[in-house]
Amino acid sequence: MNNNVNITNNQMEALCRQVVHMDLDSFFVSVERLKDSRLEGRPLLIGGTGERAVVAACSYETRACGVHSAMPMKLARRLCPEAIVMNGDHERYSHYSREVSSLIREAVPVFEQASIDEFYLDMTGMERFFGTFTLASELRQRVAKEIGLPLSFGLSTSKTVSKVATGEAKPNGQLRVEAGTEKPFLAPLPVGRLPMVGEKTASMLQGMGVNRIQTLQQMPVRLLERALGQNGRSIWERANGIDLTPVEPYQEQKSVSSEETFTHDTADIAFLRARLIAMTEALSQQLRRMPKLTGCVTVKIRYADFDTRTRQQTVPYTASDQRLLPVVHHLFDRLYERRLMIRLIGVRFSHLVGGHEPLDLFQDRQEAIRLTQAIDRLNARFGDRTVARAAGQPSGRGR
Ligand SMILES: [Mg+2]
Repeated sequence: MNNNVNITNNQMEALCRQVVHMDLDSFFVSVERLKDSRLEGRPLLIGGTGERAVVAACSYETRACGVHSAMPMKLARRLCPEAIVMNGDHERYSHYSREVSSLIREAVPVFEQASIDEFYLDMTGMERFFGTFTLASELRQRVAKEIGLPLSFGLSTSKTVSKVATGEAKPNGQLRVEAGTEKPFLAPLPVGRLPMVGEKTASMLQGMGVNRIQTLQQMPVRLLERALGQNGRSIWERANGIDLTPVEPYQEQKSVSSEETFTHDTADIAFLRARLIAMTEALSQQLRRMPKLTGCVTVKIRYADFDTRTRQQTVPYTASDQRLLPVVHHLFDRLYERRLMIRLIGVRFSHLVGGHEPLDLFQDRQEAIRLTQAIDRLNARFGDRTVARAAGQPSGRGR
């Protein structure tokens, strides 16, 4: 090691990590093709068709026309008129996401599900027995063979570099960036390839004449801090291949939950439902802020005699209260079977995965989605529970 560089043990360990980033290739499109092989090789757009709908996913064939995800659907159809437009099936996508994650869980003890189709695997230490690249490659082949979905992966010492490597390996490829070669690997790439650099930051950097990551590497970090605030330093570090963020193991990803013990036991169903609605709204808002999606809902009740019962149900990944509320009510209906007062109720959302819901997938829900977004905006401005659905307002009874 260079004597001029002060390096802590933690950093030293981080530099020896073997981190794999795996990403299913155009995931929604691949799932649709599994169901209907006639879609193979044809241009495909998935998302709503309403006025304000955007592309949730698109096949590689449409990218040749300049289509990309998150683009307004109207524009995408104009650019690629021969494309087949589909609404998407969130339930199926969640099902396949779970299949892939359970296959990964069997093979690698420490992994993090970063989104519905993205995973980080910490394979440090596994290289002593087999090559990590070989192991990851076998896993990729198993997903293709046993589940039928193509994926790409990148392997390096950090999450950032591995994610960029996956992007370079796509579609259906794999790429290893050897320790010590992170900087030259990143240097020629456009700044927008860094996971932290969104469209806004990228165009801001381009405005400063910064197009390639190499330029970021050579810039004084202070200059970036001045231009981009706190993010400036992280962007500079990542551009230089420095990223010590750990892979957050699945079991450590917390759930979000809420419980309420009543001052007076109650059997007032309308009141109990109102409390469940309020809890579900608050928790789903918390998820959207993180941002995370939940894959499992649990409802708990405690009767006046302290008999406590819970019921849970897996759900397609979501952070939408309109989707979660019916499940919460259903679980409560199944739970509340004794003719007894209740002293406590609780709601928990677990099996969290990172990411936003592909909102525009469900065009019939546009109004509901706009309502949710408006409520979130108001609550962000004026504090929690400024706005909530009327049924969730405390009624003053039973407490
Ligand atoms: Mg993907």
